[in-house]
Amino acid sequence: MTPVIALVGRPNVGKSTLFNRLTRSRDALVADFPGLTRDRKYGNGQLGDKAYTVIDTGGISGDEQGIDAAMAEQSLTAIDEADIVLFLVDARAGLMPADQAIANHLRVNQKKTWLVVNKTDGIDEQIGMADFWGLGLGDPRPIAASHGRNVTTLIDEVLEPF
Ligand code: GDP
Ligand code: MG
Repeated sequence: MTPVIALVGRPNVGKSTLFNRLTRSRDALVADFPGLTRDRKYGNGQLGDKAYTVIDTGGISGDEQGIDAAMAEQSLTAIDEADIVLFLVDARAGLMPADQAIANHLRVNQKKTWLVVNKTDGIDEQIGMADFWGLGLGDPRPIAASHGRNVTTLIDEVLEPF
């Protein structure tokens, strides 16, 4: 079975940018406007001899009306479909209420979850990650999806059990 990796997080954290890098596809719509990916989007990738499937999601609205309102239905579905969840947060924006809401859901979910701190290019990684240690989702993993920084290393580790 090909492992399925879901990319979740609030809009604008860089999910589609990472999707494009992992699938080398231009399918996902990447823009400065949050939430442009309206439906789940599937792509395939390969690292070494390991194939994987990635699901991009439009993200979670971030209007902080509780977990049910805050989690977009498609993101919940993507989590259900996935073997691995990459929870993306934004090093530059820091911790936002929507991140907390998503984290609360992921903590009780059975899926293997990685806390991925994106946009660490041009900033100190340790400072960029500082906000996120307290989320209770393990060690934050710094990447820069748009530059590819640490991405291969992360995916290699993520796919290790598969
Ligand atoms: P999504 O809404 O989570 O899918 O986010 P996008 O992939 O559409 O990215 C939102 C914005 O963040 C775009 O302007 C991207 O170019 C930018 N972005 C994504 N990844 C990075 C990164 O690693 N570093 C920086 N500086 N910007 C990024
Ligand atoms: Mg997107």
